[in-house]
Amino acid sequence: MSTYNPYENVKTTIRNAAGKLGLEESDYIISLYPERELKVSFPVRMDNGSVRVFEGYRVQHSSARGPSKGGIRFHQDTDENEVKALAAWMTFKCAVVGIPYGGAKGGVTVDPFTLSRAELERVTRRFAAMITPIIGPERDIPAPDVNTNAEMMGWIMDTYSMLKGYAVPGVVTGKPIDIGGSLGRTEATGRGVSIITQEILKKLNMPIEKTRVVVQGMGNVGSISAKLINELGATIIGVGDVSSCLYKESGLDMSDILRFLSAKKGNLLKDYEQNGAKRITNEELLTLETDVLIPAALENQINAENAANIKAKVIIEAANGPTTVEADTILDSKNIIVVPDILANAGGVVVSYFEWVQNLQSFMWEEDEVNQKLAVKMCKAFDAVYGMHTEKKATLRTSAYMIALQKLVAAYKIRGIFP
Ligand code: NAD
Repeated sequence: MSTYNPYENVKTTIRNAAGKLGLEESDYIISLYPERELKVSFPVRMDNGSVRVFEGYRVQHSSARGPSKGGIRFHQDTDENEVKALAAWMTFKCAVVGIPYGGAKGGVTVDPFTLSRAELERVTRRFAAMITPIIGPERDIPAPDVNTNAEMMGWIMDTYSMLKGYAVPGVVTGKPIDIGGSLGRTEATGRGVSIITQEILKKLNMPIEKTRVVVQGMGNVGSISAKLINELGATIIGVGDVSSCLYKESGLDMSDILRFLSAKKGNLLKDYEQNGAKRITNEELLTLETDVLIPAALENQINAENAANIKAKVIIEAANGPTTVEADTILDSKNIIVVPDILANAGGVVVSYFEWVQNLQSFMWEEDEVNQKLAVKMCKAFDAVYGMHTEKKATLRTSAYMIALQKLVAAYKIRGIFP
């Protein structure tokens, strides 16, 4: 059994950044602990009449800079440490891109692919009811993450609204447009990844038209990142999902892959064929000879075991926590540049923030406006992190944490300690 604990990873990263900033432990110690953790167990009636009990979590890491914010994940391996780490990453992500939120995350330990649609709805609604006492548009605002989507956010919005007795669109983001979702939210994380990819390639003088890219994960984030980066001129030479991976040196036809994956819910790469595309393993995918590697699946993908074999020049972390602390050291020694998750995948929470603002104003923005404002936020955050990296000779990850930690520590100081 693995001893990997993503929350320990987060704490090490925070301490590294604090050390580089010359902070006293008392300045930032609050950030090493989640503010509030809720564990829930709840029964759900299955289609065959039996009753199953599910376990879930909602962790609020910080509300120092505003209401806490973060997605909900449905996955069979989800546990408390994973949700705690994901919540902390949200705090630092919101700080680095300068949106007025703290961080939170939720998760239910379930493989949603084993549930019928009706069962999935009952699990989602009951989980929403269980966490209702601690969420709300002014407290903590969930959103989609791995294996959750807009439709499920709609069920959460409805459940919360029914319990309150009036419609509360601002309680979740990533909702369907018809009930207050924002244009551009579904694509936002991938769009942000594509913007950050463009920015880092510019800094490295690597023309995007000559760049080979590998993407692990073909869900919301991976597929849209691959699509947009491909449209910018890069060649996608490898892609993978939980079922299988494909490699084609001359470049995969991404439109065809995405058409297949989106044609039917549950479509996976194992059932897809493309002329000239070779089937490879996940390990082979991650260690392909490529310019850019984009992990867009889960945590702990680039670790002490495989980091030495990574051949990419640049890693753009579209997933949360795909690289362990040990792997970071190895990658750094090989001069592989890692653009950290809290910057690279922040596009999702930025547009979630725009959605929440639109809900509070009861006013809807045009998609162009959303995308433009997203680009401004992402480029500004990238410039700040890159500036810190150049000035302090720190990795991009440490630099991003330094910027976020400065903002967090400023909030702790200004607010003081209650009572
Ligand atoms: P998703 O459920 O839409 O897709 C996940 C993808 O990863 C699927 O293609 C799945 O097959 C693949 N996958 C799962 N397990 C795998 C494994 N063991 N090996 C290889 N591939 C595997 O999820 P998503 O929303 O695209 O999220 C992906 C990552 O991006 C997560 O780390 C998530 O926390 C992060 N993220 C998501 C958002 C968002 O807006 N959805 C925002 C920021 C960060």
